[in-house]
Amino acid sequence: MTVSFRWGAATHEGTVRDQNEDAFAAQEGLFLVADGMGGHQAGEVAAALAIAALTEHLGEITDIDDVVALVRRANDHILDESRNDHSRQGMGTTLTGLVLIHPVDGDEPVLGVVNVGDSRTYRLRHGELRRLTVDHSYVQELVTDGLITADEARFHPRRNIVTRALGIEDPLDVDGWTLPAVRGDRFLICSDGLVDEVPEPEIRDVVTGVADPQQAAEQLVDMALRHGGRDNVTVVVVDVAEGMDPAADREELVAEMGADPHWADGAPDPTWSEDMPPAEAEAVAATDPAADVAHETVAESPDVPSVAPDHVTPETTGAPAPKRRRGRLAGFLFWLLVVAILAGAFVIVAAYARSGYFVDFTDDERVMIYKGRPDGVLWFDPTEANPTTLRRASLDESSVALVESRPTFSSLDAAAEFVTGLSTTTTTTTTTPPTTTVAPTTAPPRTTVPGPTAGTTVP
Ligand code: MG
Repeated sequence: MTVSFRWGAATHEGTVRDQNEDAFAAQEGLFLVADGMGGHQAGEVAAALAIAALTEHLGEITDIDDVVALVRRANDHILDESRNDHSRQGMGTTLTGLVLIHPVDGDEPVLGVVNVGDSRTYRLRHGELRRLTVDHSYVQELVTDGLITADEARFHPRRNIVTRALGIEDPLDVDGWTLPAVRGDRFLICSDGLVDEVPEPEIRDVVTGVADPQQAAEQLVDMALRHGGRDNVTVVVVDVAEGMDPAADREELVAEMGADPHWADGAPDPTWSEDMPPAEAEAVAATDPAADVAHETVAESPDVPSVAPDHVTPETTGAPAPKRRRGRLAGFLFWLLVVAILAGAFVIVAAYARSGYFVDFTDDERVMIYKGRPDGVLWFDPTEANPTTLRRASLDESSVALVESRPTFSSLDAAAEFVTGLSTTTTTTTTTPPTTTVAPTTAPPRTTVPGPTAGTTVP
């Protein structure tokens, strides 16, 4: 089977920013968008490194694991550059898109989808535009939890907080899976500069209505600018010109593929939803482990019986002596069990209450790293673990908001790294250069929360 593409691409720095830190690749078999962050051109460098990692090694890719490995290698490269060059400290980038994979065993070529961060890949089929990638962002977690709608996320003051990006954490968690290359499918790959500005129905109108992919890409960028253009905007539109015949249903596709498409980590593909009604697909997306990054689920406290259950002791039954002895033994064992459960529950609650760290303001407005849980657990209150030199007054608005959200971390190091990354309105509050970068614009800065918080682990 031959697979070929038609494509178009457009990018613009927007109406507010004076630099374009987005980057893209659009060549036969490789279509990517990267949204760099870091200021002083560092974001541009990070985005370019991410794109180059795949363009330079495209010929080596024979399965999705290769794609994931290349993205991780790019992550290492960006982290190295970041450590070695002070002007590039804290740079990072998102990365999403499509890679045509030619398996070595002679199987049909497939499309690899890759995603880290909040740039997006959509697929249009039968007139339906469906998002393939799950954003790794703070607002996506709110959407997943049902706290805000996807449309409200576009205007949320913290919409620029990404929970995963290249250049931020090591090892990097990469979403990667494969799809069949179906003739007639169209893909839209874009930075958040498009989706934060333009409502999805308007995007769909252009993607479905404009046949030429280059014209479609340019029109979408123009729309983003007309809607405000607060951010860099990049759009790649890809048509599968030759490929597998369009299938009538999912079963047929699965039969042709030999198996369901899969994630690189072996988990089921949450976006494989050809025939799912939207509600069901949403439910699957909501359980996607990828959507749970940095999302802390509070463990249920074990059920602790506060009163003895209905239990009739032998004493109350007037049973004969031998049975009474057995009854006493049973009663003793029962209470022993209750005591053991209570003791176990105490240990678990205590360990849970004292696990993890979070950052908050003290009563006198200093930034403090606390040990424990933000609101305490039962009679275990959090304690001050590590004071910082930062004060509320020295932080910029977005950093104040970040601290007020009382983010949690699995380690003191991770919490300290977060504090180091807070942006200040002055230049002398920290000795370590910040990892959070304020872009020279009126739009909120893109920031990252380091690493997924394994908040429920007990040390
Ligand atoms: Mg952006």
